[in-house]
Amino acid sequence: MQNGSRKLLIIGNWKMHTTGAQATGLAKEIALGVGPRVDIQVVLCPPFTVLEGVSQVLSGSTVQLGAQNLYPGPMGAVTGEVCAEMLKAVYCAYVLVGHSERRVLLREPDELINQKIHTALENRIKPVLCIGEPLEVRDSGNTWPFLQTQLERALDKVPQDLIENVVIAYEPLWAIGSGQPSSPDGAQAVHAQIRQFIDTFSSSAAKLRILYGGSVKPENAQQLLAQPDIDGLLVGGASLKAKSFLDIIG
Ligand code: PEP
Repeated sequence: MQNGSRKLLIIGNWKMHTTGAQATGLAKEIALGVGPRVDIQVVLCPPFTVLEGVSQVLSGSTVQLGAQNLYPGPMGAVTGEVCAEMLKAVYCAYVLVGHSERRVLLREPDELINQKIHTALENRIKPVLCIGEPLEVRDSGNTWPFLQTQLERALDKVPQDLIENVVIAYEPLWAIGSGQPSSPDGAQAVHAQIRQFIDTFSSSAAKLRILYGGSVKPENAQQLLAQPDIDGLLVGGASLKAKSFLDIIG
């Protein structure tokens, strides 16, 4: 499944769920279900504590590993953080950056998100930059200026030729975990705007993958994926059960 030259990308964000055997069991079921498919790219983002075990399970499968965060600096004296070198040692190919739960609960500022994007790219880990507007911004009709500011700040000084290694995940805050996803048309309109904006400063806009996230379920996934600028999905809750995640992958 492709949108033009863009291979569809389905990412499961397990957030702060799973311990050892739960995580490896879930990863096994998913890897088995995905099988030898190479027409789509599936990625699992488990918590740090189980990255190594999940990495072993996924080795030799087509499913890739992602992390949920990284520290924007080299290995060293930074208590409680995890650096890119550690992620590469367990074969993480992707890392989530700027998830709204971190922006809101941990007050992560745009400058830090920008540093993480640079660090990930320097280490050849693909950053999945999450952006999204809260309900009051949507209701006041200011969705696009809000998203544009998030994009400008997060992508500040990223060389234009590296933009194709960034994945953008549009995750409206009102849709995350709410059971109220964006309509496929509504998400498509925002994705097209994001691509147009990227096109103003990078020649890679056509190659950039833009994912939708927020209450994705097996019932709505295919309609969302049918949109021309929706190149994949970032799935939270529904990625914690192998069956629902595999049904979303289709
Ligand atoms: C998320 O938080 O990245 C997410 C998309 O969550 P959910 O699918 O549960 O809405």
